[in-house]
Amino acid sequence: MPAEVLTISVAVSTILRQGETDLGTEQRARVPGSRLALGEELLLCHDRATGLLAVIAVDDTTLGPGLGGIRWMPYPTYADAVDEACRLSQVMTLKNAVADIPYGGAKSVIVREGNAADDPVLREAQLLAFGNYVNRLGGAYVPGVDMGTSVADLAAIATVAPWVSCNHNDPSPATALGVFHSVEAAVRHALQRDLLGVRVTIQGTGHVGAALARLLADRGALVSVADVDGRRAAATAHDIAGTVVAAEEAHTLPCDVFAPCASARVLHASAIGELRCAVVVGAANDVLAERSGADRLAERGITYVPDFVSNAGGVLQIHAERAGWDAGRLGLALDAVGQRTADLLDEADRTRSLPLHVAERWASVRLGRTVTIPD
Ligand code: NAD
Repeated sequence: MPAEVLTISVAVSTILRQGETDLGTEQRARVPGSRLALGEELLLCHDRATGLLAVIAVDDTTLGPGLGGIRWMPYPTYADAVDEACRLSQVMTLKNAVADIPYGGAKSVIVREGNAADDPVLREAQLLAFGNYVNRLGGAYVPGVDMGTSVADLAAIATVAPWVSCNHNDPSPATALGVFHSVEAAVRHALQRDLLGVRVTIQGTGHVGAALARLLADRGALVSVADVDGRRAAATAHDIAGTVVAAEEAHTLPCDVFAPCASARVLHASAIGELRCAVVVGAANDVLAERSGADRLAERGITYVPDFVSNAGGVLQIHAERAGWDAGRLGLALDAVGQRTADLLDEADRTRSLPLHVAERWASVRLGRTVTIPD
């Protein structure tokens, strides 16, 4: 059954003059109907047979194939899903560059509609259709898990598409461990103390948030958790003898560290104004609603570790698996997320820059052009 497809490919390199590497965001092409910069490829997927509606955004393959998860969530409009995929793909470019792994940035979104995600037969049919779209990109996109998808889903896609990650192992524990090291380093930098007795609020107790809660509680941190799914929050709190906070109030709770581990863009201007913490560091991708949120956080005296630095544990695990690293080498790479956080905060102090801008600079040097998070 032929599927409808619209591919927009922009070979950015062809519009650069010889030797010119910094095109500048302003000059880049835009996603149709959006202010967002267009990456290398944008595949809008509509499979009539299964009803699959999806977006695959490949932002940048300078360093290797675009690696990024599949998010399966409801969106108010298809344009919102396109925006989400494009924003997250840009963030993945920065993440993989700073983590120093041979991957570019990409991300995809499957629009959750009707009962397709809940009916096992429909779910598998949409996943296989999605896999066929992944194949059309000829290896430019390597999908993995993200919110709403699982290792079993990636295993289903792997039956039709050779370019898949996370089809055997869930990267979430590695992500949580990397975030844990990042929290530890940020607390040492900002508060000059270890984690014993440090108050941490975790927003989102899914795959990463629940694992992070356990790691922090084991180290003596006082952990509060919040989730829109109250049963999840309660189960995690019970597990670690922590407390539950209402999801809508989590960011307002007085604490030392606020760790966003749920959805994107939770830190908009008013939420930043309501924070009562010294440090923000977590797993959630694309946590700032506006890039200028980093300035607002600094103005409020809050140390912000960019999400694409702290949450790199998952992509490090994916790379380790594909490159055949042993557990010891992966462990060192996950420890290094903490050292990278410490280096970042030191350099930001030394150069009187925001940590976000330092991290963007690091990624830009590796890519040979200026890259920033989406605004
Ligand atoms: P998940 O779907 O397992 O968990 C997310 C949790 O957040 C769910 O329990 C959900 O109910 C909850 N949630 C959603 N909106 C919320 C809100 N407004 N307030 C409180 N809770 C809310 O997802 P995950 O795999 O744990 O990923 C969490 C975040 O970390 C995502 O942004 C993801 O992109 C990012 N991330 C995950 C990985 C990974 O390895 N899984 C790697 C890097 C980044």
